Amino acid sequence: MQNILNYINGKLQPALSGNAFYNYNPSLGEVYSTIPDSDEQDVEEAVKAASHAFPSWSATPASKRSDILLKIAELINKNSEALALAETIDQGKPLSLSRSMDIPRAAANFHFYGTGILHFASEAHPMENRFLNYTLRNPIGVVGCISPWNLPLYLFSWKIAPALAAGNTVVAKPSEITPMSAFLLSEICTEAGLPPGVLNIVHGTGPKTGAAIVSHPQIKAISFTGGTKTGEWIMKTAAPMFKKISLELGGKNPNIIFADCNFEDAVKTSVRAAFTNQGEICLCGSRIFIERSIYMKFRDAFVEEVKKLKTGDPLNADSNLGAIVSKIHLEKILSYIYLAEKEGGKLLTGGKQIHPEGKCKNGWFIEPTVFENLPYNCRTNTEEIFGPVATLIPFDSEKEVIEYANSSGYGLAATIWTENLNRAHRVAGALESGIVWINCWLVRDLRTPFGGMKNSGIGREGGFEAFRFFTEEKNVCISILKTHPSPLSRGE
Ligand code: NDP
Repeated sequence: MQNILNYINGKLQPALSGNAFYNYNPSLGEVYSTIPDSDEQDVEEAVKAASHAFPSWSATPASKRSDILLKIAELINKNSEALALAETIDQGKPLSLSRSMDIPRAAANFHFYGTGILHFASEAHPMENRFLNYTLRNPIGVVGCISPWNLPLYLFSWKIAPALAAGNTVVAKPSEITPMSAFLLSEICTEAGLPPGVLNIVHGTGPKTGAAIVSHPQIKAISFTGGTKTGEWIMKTAAPMFKKISLELGGKNPNIIFADCNFEDAVKTSVRAAFTNQGEICLCGSRIFIERSIYMKFRDAFVEEVKKLKTGDPLNADSNLGAIVSKIHLEKILSYIYLAEKEGGKLLTGGKQIHPEGKCKNGWFIEPTVFENLPYNCRTNTEEIFGPVATLIPFDSEKEVIEYANSSGYGLAATIWTENLNRAHRVAGALESGIVWINCWLVRDLRTPFGGMKNSGIGREGGFEAFRFFTEEKNVCISILKTHPSPLSRGE
């Protein structure tokens, strides 16, 4: 059995207490590694290492920091097959997805921010009289990065890459459910020449390790991606210390299909948007609103496509959906399927746990599931399920569907399908959503602001937004004499 270790001050080590707990392979339902059960002591040691490393790392020229980040990106690419396999074994997602999305994106994050820092500049504001303002953007110090289990290395690197590029030192915690790729990253960082203490990865549970990071007074900023409830707790805990906070939280995203859409594209992409990564992506479109005139046609075509999806061993090349990440999460999703039936939903396909034949028979799998006949404002349609469950809801007018879409407490992402340009812009403008895709889904340009409104979080990641978050502005105002002082005033 492999023992995952913390990465503190450049060294791999177990939790100081010696405690560890089990890590599961969700497709087998079996333990396959241990994780350090870190507590405040480990976080304290990580903060000390990060504080010690900060003066030198923040003074390292951006070009040198960039070289190291680019080297990390190169090594992720070089080890991509091993990382993809590790991600799939740990998370349950199809290997094809780890290969095509998670690992390339983790490398891209380091590459993007490693080059981005070379272009990041601050502003100057000359005043009409003799004053000049210039704004410095300095690294903050030691920052905390906490990430979830659905896109483990993808989201972990999305936070730590800009934090490091901007000159901060980092104490980071991946989810206890998917710690493996972060562990492998620590080995890559050493090989890339990242100085000891610049990045510290402390493994453990949210309420113990995560809470110790959030509560530590020397950690000046917290970048968090995870559930809304955890985000609320982080906000409350960090507020009295006036930490900078970025929260990327849950979603319950509307996918709006107008009758004039490109039908085939809308069906195919909506299936992908609902079920990629077993529906465990915060951006998944799980509430599908369909204009009534094409409702039946869309419903039948959608369900037909969903029935073609294969769920099973994530290592099989033809599996479209793999395992659900944990037994607890599987039970949560099943409880929502039960709730949907209780709320009057009509099951169109799926709805059951699967026990595939062979080695995965004890793994945690759920069929892609589709319901109709549920009111737009019932619990199934307003609470985040974060699994392979989608609902179909008809609508009659643009005004009505905007009301339905905005009725959720979340505001992360939305998709609109229409060939009418005016309507596309009008509806995009009216949706309460941090991200709107028109006639596409999950298209990501790393320069664009990423994040949600309402209960989906505060702040934005992506592009220079991340550098702005991970730096502290200081404005300097200087008085400049426009004429040379007279010899008399110079005392000559
Ligand atoms: P959680 O909020 O449970 O956990 C997220 C991270 O926070 C994990 O590392 C977790 O550790 C840690 N954590 C848990 N409790 C605390 C605490 N008290 N203090 C500090 N850290 C803590 O979310 P999930 O891991 O279940 O992730 C799923 C959620 O993430 C969904 O709601 C999803 O929508 C959201 N998400 C949002 C995204 C966005 O960009 N907006 C992107 C991806 C996911 P541990 O796992 O060890 O408990």
